[in-house]
Amino acid sequence: MAEFVPKSMVPDCGEETIRPQRLEDFIGQEELRANMRVYLNAAKERGQAMDHVLFYGNPGLGKTTLARIMAAELGVNLVTTSGPVLERSGDLAAILTNLSRHDILFVDEIHRMPISVEEVLYPAMEDFTLDLIIGQGPAARTVKLDIEPFTLVGATTRLGLLSSPLRDRFGIVNRLEFYTPEELARVVKRSARILGVDVTDEGALEIGRRSRGTPRIANRLLRRVRDFAAVYGKGVVDGEQARAALSRLDVDEAGLDEMDRKILTVLIDHFNGGPVGVKTLAVACSEEIRTIEDIYEPYLIQCGFLNRTPRGRVATPKAYKHLQRMYGGSGQGSLL
Ligand code: ADP
Repeated sequence: MAEFVPKSMVPDCGEETIRPQRLEDFIGQEELRANMRVYLNAAKERGQAMDHVLFYGNPGLGKTTLARIMAAELGVNLVTTSGPVLERSGDLAAILTNLSRHDILFVDEIHRMPISVEEVLYPAMEDFTLDLIIGQGPAARTVKLDIEPFTLVGATTRLGLLSSPLRDRFGIVNRLEFYTPEELARVVKRSARILGVDVTDEGALEIGRRSRGTPRIANRLLRRVRDFAAVYGKGVVDGEQARAALSRLDVDEAGLDEMDRKILTVLIDHFNGGPVGVKTLAVACSEEIRTIEDIYEPYLIQCGFLNRTPRGRVATPKAYKHLQRMYGGSGQGSLL
């Protein structure tokens, strides 16, 4: 099945070399990290499979990384799949029967798993059994099959789209927050060290400030800024180099990219600042609804540029100011 993947969700090439391998290399998310340490140690001490874990949050915040870290810390295999790939219940049953004791099964975009597949997971998660239906019609019968104890790690960008029976079966539910510019500067410094890039504290912070709170974007910007520094500078990424390169890359001082600004501009110039429904906004911006909802909106809302109201999306006074439009109360957008 061909799967639609927005550009900003596609992992970068070279991402694997800089992905943290151990929990102590994972930057930020302090509370989550401290809790994970406890759960991992407890599972190791008990010699049991760890409880099922659900991570939710925007793309690029570290959900896959945490699943890999869990497998490395527990010394078990990691089997990876994703919701849209599991089309038939047999697909999942085949994966589950092949798991070894205490393995981790990572299901990305778990909210996009068909309900028929999801139902296979319920007994597997609860009792480590599979209910297989053999035969058809009146002669059909159910056979219970034991599988090895395993840990399911689910990742989703949209907790609300997960069915409640599935959500309730996760013992540990963790939300990943956007990172602060300082935390992202640490991510940049760490990646720069691995990639052999010379970056100053100011350069790292400048990239961190403009990375939409997301480590994947910070790493991507670091690579691009490094290219500019190599061609136009002395190869060192300092504050000035970072600022010049980022403006060439169309990332503004607030960290908004071209699409963020387009969403706000369309909202203000075409719809008088809103409220406007997300479907209309997506059509007007020639973008997928899911991409707007999953990728752009959360950051615009977090930064206070956009509000989600029952009647639709609304641009805030801060958005008007950022785009140099005159704010005359809601619905009064005009050029300064
Ligand atoms: P998600 O699965 O949430 O989309 P990933 O786990 O694939 O995101 O993270 C994207 C990239 O960002 C990874 O390659 C990793 O290098 C980097 N990254 C994510 N979280 C952190 C973190 N807390 N510390 C350092 N690097 C991180």
